[in-house]
Parts: sequence; structure tokens; C-alpha cells
Amino acid sequence: MAWWPHTCVGCDVLGHRVCLDCAPDELHDVTTQVDGVAHTWHMAKYAGPLGTVIRQVKYRPDRHLGKRLAARMATACRGHLSPSDIDAVVAVPSTPWTRFRRGFELATLLADDVARALGRPNIRALSVRGARHQAGLNRVQRRLNLAGRVTGRRQVPPHVLLVDDVFTTGATAEACALALLQEGASRVWMVTACHADTNSQTALQIW
Ligand SMILES: [Zn+2]
Repeated sequence: MAWWPHTCVGCDVLGHRVCLDCAPDELHDVTTQVDGVAHTWHMAKYAGPLGTVIRQVKYRPDRHLGKRLAARMATACRGHLSPSDIDAVVAVPSTPWTRFRRGFELATLLADDVARALGRPNIRALSVRGARHQAGLNRVQRRLNLAGRVTGRRQVPPHVLLVDDVFTTGATAEACALALLQEGASRVWMVTACHADTNSQTALQIW
């Protein structure tokens, strides 16, 4: 069987489908304050090459590439987060329609690998129903869109790490965190692959 070299989806360099430059093994702070979330970290900006990777995973859709990204995020989390501070990992849920159309949930792929890297359970603790697709909505519209639609499915332990692929306005994070707090969490942290600058029209239009 012929061997065919991979190129990075983000920057075209030969080697892996997601290279270390595009998905570095490090986490950066998100400075946006979100109700219910103690702190948020991200790997890279959505406007950069990692945003290209995310769009390819979600809109092609490409589950295998999502698994590559998940492995990178897991390494970043293992190097920067303390497992003893975290009791469980929870993915931000997708709507049933997104799950059906794409065939997988990127946030769940990410959460699976992050949980494994930290030696903590990945709990399906949240569901979202009937929310309009978030594309192009500002923070207030997203809050209204999500109000009451993200619900807890089960009790969670006190310290939860919430995982998502893109942090945009924080409205999704807030809705999920408040649901987790209602289900028994006392502290919620969040890690996301990309941070989209909401001042960037490009990010909002693509999203
Ligand atoms: Zn790259």
C-alpha cells in the first residue's frame, strides 16, 4: 500500500493533519467573564489556523480529524490542569439535529480524550432542545435562544470541567454552567479549542 504524507489542515505543512503550530500543547486564558464559570482556557484563536481545522471537522464533517484535535487538546489539558481539582468532565451538548446531520458531536470527542488524559469520567450531564442554530447571533440573542433550553440530565460531582470546541460570546458556556450548578456542581471551569473574537465579523459570519 502506497504511503501518502499528510499535510496539516490548518497550514499545509507536511507531517500530521493537525500540526503542533496550529494546535499547540498549551492553554491560554479567556478573559471574558461568564456567569457560573470560574475560569476558561483556550488553545488558540478561531481567526487563526485552528479555526480552519474546526470548520473542516464540523462542516465537512470529518470525525477522524476531530479525533486528532481531541488528542492535542488532551495533551494541552494534561500539561496545564490539575486532575485533583476536577471530579468530572462534561461536554457542551449539541442539538439532536446537529448530532444527526454531522454524525458525531465534536465537543464530546474532545471531552472523551480530555477525560481520559485527566483520569476522570466524562459524564453526559447536559442536553439542549429546540434551540435555534447559534450562527450569527450576538450574545443577547444567544442568551435568549438558550434560556431554559439547556437542561441537566443527572447529578454531577462538585468540580466540573466543561469542554467545547469554540467559545464565542460565552452565552452557551453560561447556560451550561448554570445547569451544572443546579445539578450539584459547586465550581465549573471550561476549556475550549478556539476563542472567537466577537468583534471580528469574519468569525461571526463563518460561525
Ligand atoms: Zn499546521
